[in-house]
Amino acid sequence: MPDKKPGDTPGDAAVEKPGELSGQEAASAVPQRQPSCVLCGCCLEGCPLFAATGREELSPRAKALLAGPSKFAALPEGGLPEADVAALCSLCLACGRCEKLCPQGVAVPALVAALRAAHPDFRQWLWKQWITRLAPFWGLAGAGAALAPDALVPERLGLALKGLRGLRPGAGLSPWLSITHFPVDACRQRTGGRPVAVFDGCVGGGPRRAWAETTRFLLRGLDSAPVAARFSCCGSTLGAAGLPQEQAEVRRANVAAWREAGRPLVVAYCATCRKGLVDYVGAGGDIFSDAGEEALWRASVLPLSALLAGARGKAGRGAPAVVGYHRPCHADVRDGLGDADHALLSGLLGARLRTPAKGGCCGFGGIMQLSAPQLSGAVGRACWDTLDGALGFTAAPEAVPAYVLTGCSACVLQLAATAPAGARVGHWLEIVRCS
Ligand code: SF4
Ligand code: SF4
Repeated sequence: MPDKKPGDTPGDAAVEKPGELSGQEAASAVPQRQPSCVLCGCCLEGCPLFAATGREELSPRAKALLAGPSKFAALPEGGLPEADVAALCSLCLACGRCEKLCPQGVAVPALVAALRAAHPDFRQWLWKQWITRLAPFWGLAGAGAALAPDALVPERLGLALKGLRGLRPGAGLSPWLSITHFPVDACRQRTGGRPVAVFDGCVGGGPRRAWAETTRFLLRGLDSAPVAARFSCCGSTLGAAGLPQEQAEVRRANVAAWREAGRPLVVAYCATCRKGLVDYVGAGGDIFSDAGEEALWRASVLPLSALLAGARGKAGRGAPAVVGYHRPCHADVRDGLGDADHALLSGLLGARLRTPAKGGCCGFGGIMQLSAPQLSGAVGRACWDTLDGALGFTAAPEAVPAYVLTGCSACVLQLAATAPAGARVGHWLEIVRCS
């Protein structure tokens, strides 16, 4: 609370009102060591929200200006009205594309997460329950959502409900790709013979168990028997939603499970999970016992596709003539391996695989699906337009199917929810034959 100056009245800006973020509070909501935005605009071309709407107030520059340290330093003591802060918080997909383009190193998703944490609302509570308590019931919820007639679903819930349908048992693509060569020696070289534990994540560990089963099949082909580890959610969606305490809890639990399993390699097949796990490094919060353990964790998290690099496959019955690839925003993580899923699929599918030169964001955004479904849906549809540009399924529907693979559970659900009629989308694991 700022000091009261002579002449201040209850109506003066110097008096803190309920629901406002004072300059001091706002500054404490900003992550430590955040650099200042210099308004250069380099981030604009990467922001899917800005691209889909053309609205500067939704851009990363606007968020960095309003929520970054430079602005808070210059704020009048009265602060920002809470309604404005809350609106700002909800309108970000946490895709991280702006961060990669920013010469200053401004981390807009972290700024937004801090503001969400400072201003919790019912959506965060809902998201927390959904992720931490209701995951065992996602399949059931998906089956229920599939029964709900579209005409009876309120527009605001339409996108979330369509996403839910993607979680119903039996959803997914039919397999058509047989692996004819497993790169056993190359895999052994990469792993150094260390044991492997699979990080299934919330979706692969729940309603899409088929992903987990195919992963075990592939690891057997690589002559690697995974060790058991009781992992939970990676925590990235909790952090982005402004739930730092819950995020820290699942991070600590996952590292404890890894420790208990003998500190094996941790293989993930969801791009967002993999990024979420890599982000434990440098996050603080007593996750690791010491710097050595932290360094070992960093070296231990790998994408499944990296172990399969060099695999060969044969397309069988049911293979589409052309397959699109959606590159998840979180495919590029700080482990130097790049988009290993794309590299693997390029090798396995050759010319059959088409990838948009400039891939779009699917528009999922976690909690944003609840707070701004129209924007989330608009970004998703723009993403499908980009895929259509690379595949041409609208121009030649008889010859080219709208068939898309990706490597992120959130992208699968969001692309399924925003797909044009007749389009199919799935995780690349779904096309692999387990025989
Ligand atoms: S994180 Fe993504 S949606 Fe959010 S401001 Fe940055 S580019 Fe835009
Ligand atoms: S956030 Fe970074 S890239 Fe965007 S305007 Fe500010 S300094 Fe430039």
